[in-house]
Amino acid sequence: MSGKEQIYIDEVFKSNYIAPTGAYVTKFEESVKEYCKIDYAVALSSATAALHLALRVLGIGRGDLVLASSFTFIGSINCILYQGAEPIFIDSDSSWNLSPELLKRAIRELPKKPKALILTHLYGQMAEIDKIVEICRENSIYLIEDSAEALGASFNGKQSGTIGDLGVFSFNGNKILTTSGGGMLISRNREWIEKARFLSTQAREPFLHYEHREYGYNYRLSNVLSAIGVAQMEVLDKRVEQKREIFDFYSKELANISEINFMPEIKNSRGNRWLTTLTFDKTNPNKVINALEEQNIESRPLWKPMHLQPLFKGTSKSFIDGTSEELYRKGLCLPSPTKDFDKLYRVVEVIQKIC
Ligand SMILES: *Cc1c(COP(=O)(O)O)cnc(C)c1O
Repeated sequence: MSGKEQIYIDEVFKSNYIAPTGAYVTKFEESVKEYCKIDYAVALSSATAALHLALRVLGIGRGDLVLASSFTFIGSINCILYQGAEPIFIDSDSSWNLSPELLKRAIRELPKKPKALILTHLYGQMAEIDKIVEICRENSIYLIEDSAEALGASFNGKQSGTIGDLGVFSFNGNKILTTSGGGMLISRNREWIEKARFLSTQAREPFLHYEHREYGYNYRLSNVLSAIGVAQMEVLDKRVEQKREIFDFYSKELANISEINFMPEIKNSRGNRWLTTLTFDKTNPNKVINALEEQNIESRPLWKPMHLQPLFKGTSKSFIDGTSEELYRKGLCLPSPTKDFDKLYRVVEVIQKIC
């Protein structure tokens, strides 16, 4: 927390507007719109809800094909299953994010045209978005940016989430900003965002009596949590700076270990370095995880790719060249705490010793 959250929460309590609507919900949406320079935004209970509504407003349903990054967190993909659509997984390239070449191959070889692509900017680092936008345009495929981990990252000065047709942010407890739980759906298209807002409030038609012509969800964000969000947005730039400093620290301190490679930052982009992530060419990352654990320091492997998950075994098509599987086998997320800079030395010491 930054310090302002409690002040804004107190205002919410004074107003007695403890509800999934209110002045702070609107303020939170305004702050994200202003930061990202985007026209429309709707605050929601999670990024998972935002992704689900993105598919709903695009009319994606049973039997439709939806392309997606294989190297991601399951939250990117569950929405495809909610809609009864079929996920098609695309592997990564040297950027660690979705490979434009494999994307082209998938579109060429699939028996029918996919309707949308859910593109993850993993660990806050931008994917090859300019190439991917072009491929999606040429093939009339909607592009949804899963920027759950990438709030504050940019490409050519444009904020992540604003480049495709729809963008999604997460304010879950583990992300660069948090409202404990929360999400946002953004777009330049007013109709989509208004439709998403409508669906997020049980698809209630504008009558005093409760009238329903289609089904919706209860996906709204609380006024209390939105107050936290407004205060968090005020420190986003500072938070990104801190995360980038953590990355710079690790990359400098570990530069002498030649088997270590950090997640790259592609040309013309600026990542938020939400987590500092790396791979080891020789050392088994589990050895490092265990050694850190002995010092009571938590670390994690990289995400297990979706095409390797038992959930999708034998049911989903994928276009894979082994890249994300290799990253998963060799990779590690380092502790990236913004408040405990001194403690990063302990992490470095453990890694130095093992390598
Ligand atoms: C966290 C995350 C989500 C889900 O966000 P929630 O707000 O927790 O629903 C989706 N995609 C990615 C890539 C994430 O990291």
